[in-house]
Amino acid sequence: MNNNEDITRQPLPSLTGGVGGGSLVRPCIRALTPYSCARDEFKGREAKAFLDANENPFGTLNRYPDPLQTEVKAVLSKVKQVPAENIVLGNGSDEVIDLVYRIFCEPRIDNVVAIEPTYGMYRVCADINDVEYRPVSLNERFQPDVDAMLAATDEHTKVIWLCSPNNPTGNLLERASIERLLTEFHGIVVVDEAYSDFADARPFRMDLARWPRMIVLNTFSKCWAAAAIRLGMAFASEEIVGLFNKVKYPYNVNQLTQQQALQILSERQRLDLWRATIIRERENMLPAFAELPTCKCVYPTDANFFLARMTDADKIYKYLIDRGIVVRNRSRVHLCNDCLRITIGTPQENNLLLAAMRQYRPTPYPLP
Ligand SMILES: *Cc1c(COP(=O)(O)O)cnc(C)c1O
Repeated sequence: MNNNEDITRQPLPSLTGGVGGGSLVRPCIRALTPYSCARDEFKGREAKAFLDANENPFGTLNRYPDPLQTEVKAVLSKVKQVPAENIVLGNGSDEVIDLVYRIFCEPRIDNVVAIEPTYGMYRVCADINDVEYRPVSLNERFQPDVDAMLAATDEHTKVIWLCSPNNPTGNLLERASIERLLTEFHGIVVVDEAYSDFADARPFRMDLARWPRMIVLNTFSKCWAAAAIRLGMAFASEEIVGLFNKVKYPYNVNQLTQQQALQILSERQRLDLWRATIIRERENMLPAFAELPTCKCVYPTDANFFLARMTDADKIYKYLIDRGIVVRNRSRVHLCNDCLRITIGTPQENNLLLAAMRQYRPTPYPLP
């Protein structure tokens, strides 16, 4: 028997009443009778008269949207190569992140472990939900210390947060490290792949069947150029998808967003062209930026941004702001002293940044 088969047979019951009576799911969620909306009770799209939801019969956006976004998921399933039953859509990934806490973490009792530094919303949502957040430092190569992460877990650890390619460091996490955490930790492992379209690696969503306690996050906000419509995706086992559907607001993704998502998905060549341009610009920007006298080093990146260690990030940040160029000052983030996080823009925007940086002169010491 190979290792994969072994993992698939790991007791899924641990989600709802596992070993020692412990459950990964909060008791109140396990016991919850979800709200049943009009569109849950009658699922057909065609009828002579819809008189069930107290809507106004006039207008164009007068009807409640599909609570399970069936059409969007059908197309996404083909594009992402994940069965529609394994997809959850949210009001941005941020909604999904919050739902993970609300489903799995009992306030003041449970805790989560996360890599540090990483995307700030994992901690903010922990704080809002009154759940203890346990950051574990990445090593000097910005890779997870798996032993330290496992050591940080205890019987109340419900979730491990991973982000690959990671924000703000830009690099992919090593596959072997993620797989070890998926194997050795018996709670939920979230792999946030918001930037995986820019990376040259097999995305973890392709291996959903192998890891029943994994949740993979994707978003329309980055490579798919639609941050404004607020649409995030989670890929997970049908059992976990069922929990999300039970807890989320019934109509969490509005009709305009669903329509626009279908539109975007029908114009995928445009996205492919944009992605190719961004990756080409990234390959040009990195060496050009690294040559600046004010740049100590540029870290390797698998995303549409890069982290650069500067001689004086605060001063350079202000200098750029004065010239109308906004980058992200990450110099107060763990392991990121004097670092700026720079998004790859259009060729014109990137040239503007390089030109401004080449003109930068550190303030001279005052003459005696
Ligand atoms: C930008 C980003 C997201 C996207 O969040 P949305 O709510 O979908 O816009 C998710 N995760 C990471 C790590 C990000 O950097």
